[in-house]
Amino acid sequence: MHIVFAASECVPYSKTGGLADVVGSLPQALAVLGHDVTVYVPRYRSTKLENPSKAIASITVPFDDRYRFCSILDGGVKSGVQYYFVEYPPYFDRDALYGTALGDYHDNAERFALFCRAVMEASKVLGAPEIFHCHDWQTALIPILLETLYREDPAFTQTRCVFTIHNLGYQGLFPPEVLPLLMLPWDLFSMDKLEFYGKVNFLKGAIDSADYLTTVSRKYAQEIQTTEYGFGLDGVLRARSATLAGILNGVDYSEWNPATDPMIAVNYSAADLTGKPACKRDLLKEFGLAPETQLPVIGIVSRFAGQKGFDLIQYIADRTAREELIVIALGTGDREYEDMFRRLNRQYPQKFAVKIEFNNRMAHKVEAGADIFLMPSRYEPAGLNQLYSLKYGTVPIVRATGGLDDTIEQYDPISGKGTGFKFREYNAEALLDAIKFAIACYRDHPKWQKLMQNGMVQDYSWASAAREYARVYEKAKQGRFAPIVPQP
Ligand code: ADP
Repeated sequence: MHIVFAASECVPYSKTGGLADVVGSLPQALAVLGHDVTVYVPRYRSTKLENPSKAIASITVPFDDRYRFCSILDGGVKSGVQYYFVEYPPYFDRDALYGTALGDYHDNAERFALFCRAVMEASKVLGAPEIFHCHDWQTALIPILLETLYREDPAFTQTRCVFTIHNLGYQGLFPPEVLPLLMLPWDLFSMDKLEFYGKVNFLKGAIDSADYLTTVSRKYAQEIQTTEYGFGLDGVLRARSATLAGILNGVDYSEWNPATDPMIAVNYSAADLTGKPACKRDLLKEFGLAPETQLPVIGIVSRFAGQKGFDLIQYIADRTAREELIVIALGTGDREYEDMFRRLNRQYPQKFAVKIEFNNRMAHKVEAGADIFLMPSRYEPAGLNQLYSLKYGTVPIVRATGGLDDTIEQYDPISGKGTGFKFREYNAEALLDAIKFAIACYRDHPKWQKLMQNGMVQDYSWASAAREYARVYEKAKQGRFAPIVPQP
């Protein structure tokens, strides 16, 4: 089957979060299954390409004020996947992907509308797919356009669209005036289409118009149909529940494996854990702490966003500092949480260390060097870091939500079963209890090693997720109202 991926980020070309990991791995896993896969992403300033050739010199994208002309760069075939890049420097040659510390770029609607149009026009020349697989609001216009302006385009009569929600919290909300600017019909501005409390909601339009919907874990697929997690779109999602699948993200173990990882101090594995203490010493040194310690190190690698549960950490930070532990945090994002970690570091320099940066190498070092990994998320569609942590023998403490709940099994010291520590209520006391329980368990070293190994032997590779996506594509080909039959 020919599948075209359209996404706003993709490892190794661009990344702000888990979406990039997925778009970097899933196409290659589908290619291994024999599918013909093409990936389109924007060419950002940070996108490194070696001698790209031009696949298409000029694509015209009409806007109300004037035409814009972008081009398509051929990034070549890697691991069986064809990569193309939409080049339009006025929109994409910028410091960041979506915005700065001051907020989102004011023209994000235009930027990603141009991207979507370019992908569709380029596909007509370079190969119209059987399936467009689109991801998050940035590519939501593709299913919307397929159902509206491109409905009669003979290039796409056999094309269906699968849309994956990686995070319902980001919807692409814009003032209604973007519709005429983007040359989209006004009748899209209705309650059963894109209108959402007086604004245009790109994600809502995609939920309505895609042939199939997926999200990135089973639990999250259920959660987003509730008012608590639905961000106002739970009703629209419930209406599509028969064609909404939850498929857990996989891990690229060629990048995230302590036995082969070139970025960590010493390699180790479930069978031979002797390298891990050296990784811990290396991590402590990197964060300016004394390398020898008996205390457990709790690692955090995260976007500093409200979603990730930092308000809980803020609430118990002073009490946590009195516990026998060290917290090491790597992240960037909301000023409030950057400042919180800076303050904690000033106040408790031996207990809280922080690096405010996006640094992939350091993320690997935290995974390898920490003893425990903390993800107290308010909601977590899939979560990748807890899966990396399992592989690195870095025992996760998670809130039981979304993919965290699906992937972490509560540890029971009596039976020795389980892979981590979970707390259910979104509550700082519950988090502190989970931390205290984890550090109590850590003191029993033989049992702790067994707990580490329980996680390290788990397998979340992409192969089985890719097979599930292939089944969804088959269903999508039958049209939007064919329900998914759950697999045994
Ligand atoms: P989300 O997509 O919500 O940010 P995920 O857990 O799905 O959360 O994925 C986050 C990805 O981004 C992981 O690969 C993680 O290692 C990476 N990441 C997040 N923050 C940083 C950072 N400051 N430096 C390096 N990598 C980071």
